[in-house]
Amino acid sequence: MGKRYLFTPGPTPVPPEVLAAVGAPVIHHRSPEFLPVYERVLTRLRDVCRTENDVLLFGSSGTGAFESAVANLVSPGEPHLVVSAGSFGDRWVAMTTAYGADVDVLRYAWGETPDADDLRARLREREAKVVWLVHSETSTGVVADVQALAAAAKEAGALVVVDAVSSLGAVPCETDAWGLDVVVAGSQKALMCPPGLGLAAVSEAALGATGSSPRFYFDWERTRKAQQTLDAPVTLPVSLVTGLDVALGLLFEEGLEAAFERHVRLGRAARAGVKALGLELFSPDEDRSAVVTAVRTPNGFDATDVVKGVRDRFGMTIANGQGEFKGKIFRLGHIGWFDVFDITTQLAAVEIVLADLGADVERGVAVTAALEAFETQPVS
Ligand code: PLP
Repeated sequence: MGKRYLFTPGPTPVPPEVLAAVGAPVIHHRSPEFLPVYERVLTRLRDVCRTENDVLLFGSSGTGAFESAVANLVSPGEPHLVVSAGSFGDRWVAMTTAYGADVDVLRYAWGETPDADDLRARLREREAKVVWLVHSETSTGVVADVQALAAAAKEAGALVVVDAVSSLGAVPCETDAWGLDVVVAGSQKALMCPPGLGLAAVSEAALGATGSSPRFYFDWERTRKAQQTLDAPVTLPVSLVTGLDVALGLLFEEGLEAAFERHVRLGRAARAGVKALGLELFSPDEDRSAVVTAVRTPNGFDATDVVKGVRDRFGMTIANGQGEFKGKIFRLGHIGWFDVFDITTQLAAVEIVLADLGADVERGVAVTAALEAFETQPVS
């Protein structure tokens, strides 16, 4: 089999040290070997989330962590407000609706950036128990100003729940300082692990506001009590937890701030390369957009052919657009275990494939533009 490259915004490449830990012999989840690993992971997750609150860990995808928040916080008939500007905002809408909430949606077109004043105005019209936000809308590349949005929600007395599935570890997410009651994420993005772990940082206020929806596996109180004595409430995916321990060690070895700066530079490099090719960005041309770069396919060309072309010719997986943007945009991921050469490799492949498809792209400049953008200009 030829060489494979994983360039999607999740799952993301996993460092060999992490893979080695995941592949080690399975140990028991209540054994003396595992307990220090479990404890370290729970502590390090608090550090990544920048919170003093408990971070609850589940064997699930990110959507499972979503569901824990909905199952614990929604009672049928209650007013809730979702801010949606893409696929994952819509997931909050679908899930809160499925649990019987009376859901109001502050809706933006895909690609737009939610605005705190809009949220303030909407909350003046109708109160909400919880405001449900997406930090990094992976479907569009927009990273929202969660700090400002959370402040607007707090002014109205609402709890704030944030989907940080693709942002945690890539861009700053200050859970306590920004007053975020719940932050949910998954292992397979900037945390550099295989898929399979979901997490939810949960404030005392959120724990005090749980509702009447039926739940068991995802019950926060049950999980919290068990975690406090490291007496896992279920058989944990010990191999993944062990891998996450190593991955979080790598992240803190680099330093969280250094990782955030690297992601800003990776985003700059991707956008500079895309523009040098003569292509139009779909995601915002701003430093905050450091998770995934979404690119419009030139008129008359289909993103599906670009995605297929780089896969079939070079063994690279990049992401197509989602929903109605399938075929219209493609997305270059840059979270987690990425360096600038992962960006230039993607750009070079996209350049070749688009040129071969007959698109009018500028040849031979994207890689240089990306390297320059990565190196130059300090990150404030
Ligand atoms: N939210 C965001 C922003 C995501 O990028 C994803 C995954 O792609 C999810 C939620 C869903 O996570 P999962 O696929 O792990 O259930």
